[in-house]
Amino acid sequence: MSGPPLTLGDLAALPVTTVRGIGPRKADGLRAIGVDTIADLLMHYPRRWLDRTKEASIGELEVGEEATVLVRVQKVSSRRTRNRKTLVEVSVTDGTGTLRCTFFNQPWRERQLAPGLEVLVFGKLELYQGRRQMTNPVIDLVGDKTRRIVPVYPQSEKAGLYSSDFQDWVARTLAKAEPRGFAEPVPAGILAEHGLVGRGPAFRGIHAPDAMGQVTQARARLVFDELLRVQLALVLRKRHLERTTAGIAHRVDDDLVERLLDRLPFPLTGAQQRVIAEIRADLASDRPMHRLLQGDVGAGKTVVAVAALLVAVAGGHQGALMAPTAVLAEQHHLGIAALLEGFTVPDRSGSLFEERPLRVELLTNRTTAAERRRLSTDLADGLVDLLVGTHALLEEGVGFRSLGVVVIDEQHRFGVEQRALLRAKATGDAVPDVLVMTATPIPRTAAMTVYGDLDVSVLDELPPGRTPIETEWVRTGDGGGAGDAAAEQVVWEVVREEVTAGRQAYVVCPLVEESEKLEVSSAEETLDRLRAGALDGLSLDLLHGRVGAADKERVMAEFRAGKIQVLVATTVIEVGVDVPNATVMVILDADRFGIAQLHQLRGRVGRGSARSRCFLVGAGATEEAQERLSAMVRTTDGFELAEVDLDLRGEGTLMGERQKGRNDLRLASLRRDREWVARARAAAFSIVDDDPELAGHPALRDEVELLLGADEADNLLKS
Ligand code: ADP
Ligand code: MG
Repeated sequence: MSGPPLTLGDLAALPVTTVRGIGPRKADGLRAIGVDTIADLLMHYPRRWLDRTKEASIGELEVGEEATVLVRVQKVSSRRTRNRKTLVEVSVTDGTGTLRCTFFNQPWRERQLAPGLEVLVFGKLELYQGRRQMTNPVIDLVGDKTRRIVPVYPQSEKAGLYSSDFQDWVARTLAKAEPRGFAEPVPAGILAEHGLVGRGPAFRGIHAPDAMGQVTQARARLVFDELLRVQLALVLRKRHLERTTAGIAHRVDDDLVERLLDRLPFPLTGAQQRVIAEIRADLASDRPMHRLLQGDVGAGKTVVAVAALLVAVAGGHQGALMAPTAVLAEQHHLGIAALLEGFTVPDRSGSLFEERPLRVELLTNRTTAAERRRLSTDLADGLVDLLVGTHALLEEGVGFRSLGVVVIDEQHRFGVEQRALLRAKATGDAVPDVLVMTATPIPRTAAMTVYGDLDVSVLDELPPGRTPIETEWVRTGDGGGAGDAAAEQVVWEVVREEVTAGRQAYVVCPLVEESEKLEVSSAEETLDRLRAGALDGLSLDLLHGRVGAADKERVMAEFRAGKIQVLVATTVIEVGVDVPNATVMVILDADRFGIAQLHQLRGRVGRGSARSRCFLVGAGATEEAQERLSAMVRTTDGFELAEVDLDLRGEGTLMGERQKGRNDLRLASLRRDREWVARARAAAFSIVDDDPELAGHPALRDEVELLLGADEADNLLKS
């Protein structure tokens, strides 16, 4: 190889078969694990490193200790156990002692571990029938055993790929790349700022370190690379959108917002003030706003939304608020109409400068055709100022005179397509400003990645005077039974006490994801059971996904009015339902719910001044369920819970929601590398804002193209 330093693009253009030793069979195996090119091979990172200066020896190992030992295979045998499993027994030695490794149901070990072979064994030393042994230890076939630090690669028995293979191939690749070296895509200033090593040393440091310190440095650099690529793509997308769309420069000096704030029976929290200021700055600028507002349940997002909508109205535009369900839309409509009661706006339809009442309307799938026609006409004439609704307001035939601001509540139920539809509602060239609100906070650095093409505001302060919700995990057995009934009994007594004191309660029924029909029948069963038993004599009613529209409305109205004391429901009450008099939340079979959902459900209580309680009834059957339930008991802070959720579920699920294509984060973790996410984002902004087409950064440009594909990259990098 001769020529200029190698870019990732160069490496990605070379198939793995160019490496000596990789024939068609190994190449097939590599393809199966997603390694097609030299770039993939270099980014197939070791899983761990064996520091041979710290290697244990069999003779010194204590029973119960976990360790890695480098051993030679002495003898292998295989037999059937009484319950027809294969048992492979391998005796190994390292000169200081011997050890038996036993493998259940891994017949191929007999072929793999031929006598004389040197392998690394990782496991826990046990004493079994007086003999020292490890059961199902991890085996690594290492190649070069002269190194002090041996990289151990993820291997695949199925694909016939062993750690030692990777060690050889990567070593050859690095040696071959040596004369040309690796191109350095990151500006020197940024490397210096973060104390990062160059890319060449990073590849060597991760694959062939001389000391463990090099691994740490290499990892930092490669993590930064991955995050920087992702952030560059996101920042480019963001800037592209801003460049190619024109927004409305709203007038923010009107007093409609001040009037709203004057009218509120409470002062804004510091966080609300800050976020409203951020939004006003966005609205005043002629760049369209794309802002995500994260705020925990009860943080007071509605006021922020209404303030944003009023800015539009003040300038003679219209505002729209979209909620995910009709129930929520109706509730928002009621609340906002009450909040803006008596407000007036200039009547622009007449020639005289007159005032007319500010008009807030509701549009959902329950709106009749006739009513919808009337609304459409008035919207088109600019006689409706604020429209609250569900997806229905995105439908064709709903035309605004001048849609200025759109607020989307509970973002997680809204997709990219809806956003596009909304944009299509623009009149003329100016795109409406968009504020997306979510009550399912995700950690800040995760948001930077998952929602990296949006600006993010955070309401991280709850209004004062809230009594924290007390949460209790009511532990039941695994299968249900008499013990469970006794455990639940305590809960029903609390419900009864609260209801007697004039309060209300929710009972959330087991989630049946597979079938709505089953879920409904289980909810009905729960209602019957409680009516006839523990809650006999109280007024109970039912709400679930199959209750008809009219009934749903009646039930919600009666619950709001306090006529229904206990509302038995499925997760339809998850988002937004606001009844301050409800003080008890009982969640049955709580194991089945994710943290975000539990947190949302719990947020239905604790909305008034009275003390509220939440009971999570569940077995905690898995370790993860236990962690979830314990976290819920420990804290009511949505951001803290979001961190726990991220730890438990990993970032895969998070990324899956928005990132199409493959996940580019191989080494970086949104959990462990929080700090690097923020640094990479800042670096991406500084690079792109200096050089929007990356004309002066060809190697980086190359990498963005690799990540996004040539088409999208070209489009984003076009001026
Ligand atoms: P969420 O963020 O969950 O949508 P809401 O906007 O529904 O929260 O607000 C929850 C409750 O808190 C409402 O009853 C609202 O009137 C009240 N609230 C909002 N902001 C404040 C504040 N600054 N001080 C006191 N109460 C507030
Ligand atoms: Mg809300």
